Amino acid sequence: MGKQKLKPKTPSPFWNRWLSPILIATISGLLAILINVQSFAIGQSSNIFIPKSQQSAPDLIAVTFPTPQTHKLPPQLAQWQDSSNSGDYFSQVKSTPVGYLIWSRFPIRIHIATPQLSNTIQAKNWVNTVSQTVSEWNNYLPLEIVSHADVADITIIRKAPPLRFDRDRKIIRARSALTTYNLYTKNNILHHQFQILLSPSQTGKYLLAAARHELGHALGIWGHSQKSSDALYPSQVRNPPPISTRDVNTLKQVYQQPTSLGWSVISNK
Ligand SMILES: [Zn+2]
Repeated sequence: MGKQKLKPKTPSPFWNRWLSPILIATISGLLAILINVQSFAIGQSSNIFIPKSQQSAPDLIAVTFPTPQTHKLPPQLAQWQDSSNSGDYFSQVKSTPVGYLIWSRFPIRIHIATPQLSNTIQAKNWVNTVSQTVSEWNNYLPLEIVSHADVADITIIRKAPPLRFDRDRKIIRARSALTTYNLYTKNNILHHQFQILLSPSQTGKYLLAAARHELGHALGIWGHSQKSSDALYPSQVRNPPPISTRDVNTLKQVYQQPTSLGWSVISNK
């Protein structure tokens, strides 16, 4: 969570070449962006930025995002009916520069990286716990666990998220998880890819809750519920809830929205 803005201190040839078009794109609302150089975290504003460290990335391409359109609702969500009228928190879900973060290629491939621990049973238990949340969400969207990270749409790693600092270099707070996405194109189609970092400090039911919550973000719920009985409630609770009816109602709403993802791009190369 949190805003992240990067500004160049001194103009460089890179910025001369690339920053102006980006600023123009941002101001005029044209959805032109450099693909493969930015990642976004939940809670971050939708400002387009480029990491300083990638100032000389060689294979940047400028593309115009496809006009957002809706995809066909996946069968499980199409069949989902809430007879209890529990409502949803769709109003809290944010759109992004590419529209809603919707998957349209199924099954969604998830890689759970086996932690490099000397205690192999502990490593196995970690993978099992995270896998359980994949099974839970699989009731609503087709998911598949894959053994290779390079073919994964979502990668889940046991790793402490980087610390965030304020201007005085004081730590703002340690995060227990961080979910980010990148954009890329393949065969002219705009795609996204997620990475979930789960802190080693999370164990047992809290690991289960964190994995369930972050996977919810990666599957498209790019926002938080205000009710502690939902999996996408932002704070840790003593007895973490399972995926709630409101979570699924919200997910279904998201998948009925337009997105640029999964549609063909026009290259400006
Ligand atoms: Zn969250």
